[in-house]
Amino acid sequence: ATPTALMVGTGRGAQLGILIKGPEVLESTRRVDTVVLDKTGTVTTGRMSLLAVHPAEGTDATDVLRLAGAVEHPSEHPIARAVADAAREKLGTLPVPEDFAAVPGLGAQGVVEGHAVLIGRPRLMADWSLTVPGSLRRALDRAEAAGRTAVLAAWDGEVRAVLEIADTVKETSPEAVRRLRALGLRPVLLTGDNEAVARSVAHEVGIAPDDVFAEVLPQDKVDVVKRLQSEGRSVAMVGDGVNDAAALAQADLGLAMGTGTDAAIEAGDLTLVRGDLRAAADAVRLARRTLGTIR
Ligand code: ADP
Ligand code: MG
Repeated sequence: ATPTALMVGTGRGAQLGILIKGPEVLESTRRVDTVVLDKTGTVTTGRMSLLAVHPAEGTDATDVLRLAGAVEHPSEHPIARAVADAAREKLGTLPVPEDFAAVPGLGAQGVVEGHAVLIGRPRLMADWSLTVPGSLRRALDRAEAAGRTAVLAAWDGEVRAVLEIADTVKETSPEAVRRLRALGLRPVLLTGDNEAVARSVAHEVGIAPDDVFAEVLPQDKVDVVKRLQSEGRSVAMVGDGVNDAAALAQADLGLAMGTGTDAAIEAGDLTLVRGDLRAAADAVRLARRTLGTIR
């Protein structure tokens, strides 16, 4: 394409809410045949809410809210926001945690009112050699079977509650997936969340169960992209989180949600300004048109 065509393409992109880092990006956009979609914040709104607390016998739900809310309070993770906001709404101010630390892709930990508190995936509990009581295991399985994200809260060496959290698929995501498929791209879902939640979101937007990669740790997301590339695929990755930055950089084309983190936007080649996944399909169409493969 001529420099003028590339400039026109880039300008048209801006009108569609697509910011393109440089003219060479259109070429990789035209070529992609696989699109890896991060779940939380990309396919879903990422605005989560706490639906229920299931305490173990002998545990008070208010203690769960206070201690878990305090540990989640400093974190920007969507799950942390849901838990801390619900706790603050119910209890007013929360205690300030000491030694707070996020454990990427697994949860968070901290000391609150002298208690060592953990909140996150079963895997985080296992890392600390904590066992999950049968009643909580069942509550966890039920919540996940219903397509929800469930996390565990523990303090002083005992797992004491399941917190049931829900996120919703963006209204525009099913149409976006349909349009990407119509352009000949294979959509793949990639998430750190559990398998049941991932499959339910995939089903809702029309992604095949075989194309779901769940329970992938942040540092391993990039390996999923590499694996698809080693199969000869030209891979676009769409993401919003700090967790997605390495995968966005590794992909043949990185698309960042404009509503996402700065790290993702910096790592991407393209920004979907409005955080609407349909713009990913617009970008592919635009690139093909600009470079003359379709009319
Ligand atoms: P995604 O890949 O869908 O954007 P993440 O990698 O950020 O998700 O998180 C993966 C999983 O780790 C979450 O579904 C949750 O179970 C757990 N997790 C991560 N951060 C937290 C937190 N701050 N509090 C509780 N659980 C968390
Ligand atoms: Mg995300």
